[in-house]
Amino acid sequence: MRIVDIRERTIAVSRYVDPAIASGGLTTSLIAVVTDAIRDGAPVIGYGFASVGRYAQGGLIRERFAPRLRAAPAEALCDDAGTNLDPFRVWRVMMAGEKPGGHGERCVAVGALDMAIWDAAAKIAGEPLHRFLARRIGCREPPPARVRAYAGGGYVYPVDDLARLADEMRRFADLGFTHAKIKIGALPIDQDLRRIAAAAAVLGDAARLAVDAMNSYDRDRGLVAARQLAPLGLWWFEDICDPHDFATHGDVAAAYAPPIAAGEALFSLAEAKLLDRYGGLRPAQDILLFDPVHCYGLTGYLPIVDHLTAAGWPRSAFWPHGGHLFALHVVAALGLGGAEITPLGFAPFSGVAPGMTVSGGFVDLPQAPGIGFELHDAARDAFRRVHDDAR
Ligand code: MG
Repeated sequence: MRIVDIRERTIAVSRYVDPAIASGGLTTSLIAVVTDAIRDGAPVIGYGFASVGRYAQGGLIRERFAPRLRAAPAEALCDDAGTNLDPFRVWRVMMAGEKPGGHGERCVAVGALDMAIWDAAAKIAGEPLHRFLARRIGCREPPPARVRAYAGGGYVYPVDDLARLADEMRRFADLGFTHAKIKIGALPIDQDLRRIAAAAAVLGDAARLAVDAMNSYDRDRGLVAARQLAPLGLWWFEDICDPHDFATHGDVAAAYAPPIAAGEALFSLAEAKLLDRYGGLRPAQDILLFDPVHCYGLTGYLPIVDHLTAAGWPRSAFWPHGGHLFALHVVAALGLGGAEITPLGFAPFSGVAPGMTVSGGFVDLPQAPGIGFELHDAARDAFRRVHDDAR
């Protein structure tokens, strides 16, 4: 079998339900990898996207990574039998000639393609991705049918912020989520404390609320926030400072005894090692957020999990960023702590597909072959446009 075509498109994504609220022009890349494998009378097409938060990567995909796949002989991309794509071999072809370091956002371009390759491979195998992946990496235990999940959102509203934030939290709770995460750091700390109180009141317990400073604090503001937040009993305190400022991160961690979450904006094994060595994190309680798309895809994410678990981190510490269906499969197959879901923002990838029940802080895994984007109306339509518009 072989890859027949690779199609790519940039779309706008908003952090809010209302796309008119400014999200900084945020975009993402959608990918459709068309194969010559036929299932149910049609060619298998793998779908992937560049997760959220780092903008689209169309230039890198079009100019560098997709051409390498198009130019590769089929045997360089397939398993030994030649009947399915081998995502690990495909990844090596994409990365041929790339030097270590200087990750920039090429890791996001590779990750978007990698997601589509895993989707295609699982579809060709006729399995949902979590089962295909568990088998592919040699898991002894079958993956669970559901995983822990929380609702991500809580961005600052330009008008009527506290009331709209509380309403958003109510909608999360109504959808079956027990835990949620909101943003802090963009406003003075006293206003953030009011936001936290409003959100925690809806959830019923501050221990069900995580706060995400979006890497916004310098050392002084981080230490002030740590002092103010420490008594609140929050679920976790996330993305404190510049992701590469390990000295500040370590200082704030030393001043904040409750759980901290980090790693969302680190994209490589080398950076993950630095965070573990110098970031002041405590494996017995802290949370690791690496996004399996942004870290050069799943094929780049697996060595991070392997390295850090060998270094003493429990699998339950990994809660991947992204809020996408792909992460749910990864969490299930690898036995990780849980996943973020963005129930209201980042359309067309908001929430879960019909039939995926959210209850008691758990969500059911999609059971269709591949990732299951076809079950999610808005995501399916967006991917089909990538495919159909390119004809
Ligand atoms: Mg974050």
